[in-house]
Amino acid sequence: MSGTAGGQSTGKRLRQPIVVVLGHVDHGKTTLLDRIRGTAVTAKEPGLITQHVGASVVPASVIEKLAEPLKKLIPFKLIIPGLLFIDTPGHELFTNLRRRGGSVADFAILVVDINEGFQPQTYESIEILKQRRVPFIVAANKIDKIPGWKPNPNTPFVISHRKQPQWVQEELERRLWDNVIAKLYEVGFQADRFDRVKDFTRTVAVIPISAKTGEGIAELLAVLAGLAQRYLQNRLRFAEGPARGVILELREQPGLGTAADVIIYDGVLRRGDLIVTGGLEGPVITRVRALLMPKPLQEIRVAKRELEPVDEVYAAAGVRVVAPGIENAVAGAPIYVATSEEEAKQLAEKVRREIEALRIKTDAEGVVVKADTLGSLEALVEALRQKNIPIRYADVGPVAKRDVIEAVASKEINKFYAVILAFNVKILPEAEAEAEKHEIKIFQHNVIYQLLEDFEKWYREQIEAEKRKELEQLIRPGKIRIIPGYVFRRSNPAIVGVEVLGGVIKPGYPLMREDGKRIGTIHQIQDRGKTVQEARAGMAVAISIRGHVLVGRHIDEGDVLYTDIPEKHAIMWLTKYKSELSDDEKVVLKEIIKIKRKQNPTYALTL
Ligand code: GDP
Repeated sequence: MSGTAGGQSTGKRLRQPIVVVLGHVDHGKTTLLDRIRGTAVTAKEPGLITQHVGASVVPASVIEKLAEPLKKLIPFKLIIPGLLFIDTPGHELFTNLRRRGGSVADFAILVVDINEGFQPQTYESIEILKQRRVPFIVAANKIDKIPGWKPNPNTPFVISHRKQPQWVQEELERRLWDNVIAKLYEVGFQADRFDRVKDFTRTVAVIPISAKTGEGIAELLAVLAGLAQRYLQNRLRFAEGPARGVILELREQPGLGTAADVIIYDGVLRRGDLIVTGGLEGPVITRVRALLMPKPLQEIRVAKRELEPVDEVYAAAGVRVVAPGIENAVAGAPIYVATSEEEAKQLAEKVRREIEALRIKTDAEGVVVKADTLGSLEALVEALRQKNIPIRYADVGPVAKRDVIEAVASKEINKFYAVILAFNVKILPEAEAEAEKHEIKIFQHNVIYQLLEDFEKWYREQIEAEKRKELEQLIRPGKIRIIPGYVFRRSNPAIVGVEVLGGVIKPGYPLMREDGKRIGTIHQIQDRGKTVQEARAGMAVAISIRGHVLVGRHIDEGDVLYTDIPEKHAIMWLTKYKSELSDDEKVVLKEIIKIKRKQNPTYALTL
């Protein structure tokens, strides 16, 4: 059977909004999508294809039917033809729904387990939604797990809620506030339960649901559809022109080679159309050989949906595109229909520039980034930029030897950036060997948030270790007084009892007199007969002093001595490590600088 698929071609002015589901693992994204698809199938709407490639459509008639009991609360007539849900939840695929400066997704559902609250990927989802400027509502899922909740399967939330005892209603309210609404406030969003929201442009609507029992699904779909058609009309206005879309994934199609799963967000795509898309080796210009869509079935839980050819597809739609050369395209690349060879060339240039803008190649210090698709590359680069982490090189593909070579070059400028961040890609064996040889660290993860966190943790540890090492080598300010009557040995080495007046002394520190004359180096410090590695303000200890020093001649009982700080160290203390000095060390440092400037007026002048 050949025919038309996707959104309706006639009569409707608006296309379906494209909706994605994001949220933390195990919070119920997949269950929710199954439930939504289920509602579309059980409603048995004749003549409407509900299954697309990589997406499912819930027709407007189904949403209206579900929302029937809510008429008083949410009065509306749908003018959009339905909602198109992307089937694979999570932000990994979502990042590929990219569209210059934004997303192909028109709306998102952020799923949060009402009992568990915000988790790392909840925050990450919000970050990515902000980044791509996608409006969202929140599904506070698993309300059936609230203690005492009596499920009313497939019932609107407001109706099931009314039937719960008051203490259960209060517990729901508490969890909703503490675990969801308060958390949204913390990340800068005003939010409230959907039936209390007055201005949906300023307040994020939170809908309590159970993906398991179906409670609240009616409101979720109704609010989503209502908001989309009210606030996104311009975006959803359907142009009956050449198609525009994005490649979600590339797949092997048995017998046909590589095919591209595409989301069309505007216009019409027809068999035989001249299309332009992009790859890492440059733009791809080709013709559509076949368009494949799932066969319309009433039962969705069939393991493998068979695909069949169609002649044309209307936005919004998910469709598999078979075309020679499409294997050279990359997921996340735009795909456009051209009406002439001339236009194809112009579009190819546009696509080339867009893809090149996402790949980074510099000679500066910075990390090396490898990602599996254009979408994840873009999200990763954006996240790194927000954290002010410089990037030397960023591209799509497995970690290869040349990536390690880039990291080695970066190491010569700044060793802390000599790393490779590999998102969802393999490391080729020769790259692994090369990295080991040059001690290049490769971070690997399939969660962006985790990848960055791993790197940042390592980075902080390296910086801290480096700082400790450098600090260890700096001579600290110290001020001591030789206690009268405590000269144990006059020279070679001199051994005297001292009290530490300020700062700290350690073995190896050179000493000077109040007039700036160097008088030897501390060899050992003993506190009540035990050798110690330092003595701080307030302590009285015995020290031995190495060097040409004679008590009674160069120094004497009651004399005040200072640590003799080299100018370089003093500058470090005044600049980079100022915060590492205690208050009494700062006072002593001032005195030391005063002494030093008598001999050298520019000593440690840091302007
Ligand atoms: P995902 O990782 O976000 O896609 O989460 P899943 O949809 O795979 O759900 C994770 C687990 O939570 C599964 O065992 C689901 O059965 C369960 N689950 C999902 N939604 C609900 C719900 O509303 N109520 C209850 N009780 N369990 C749920």
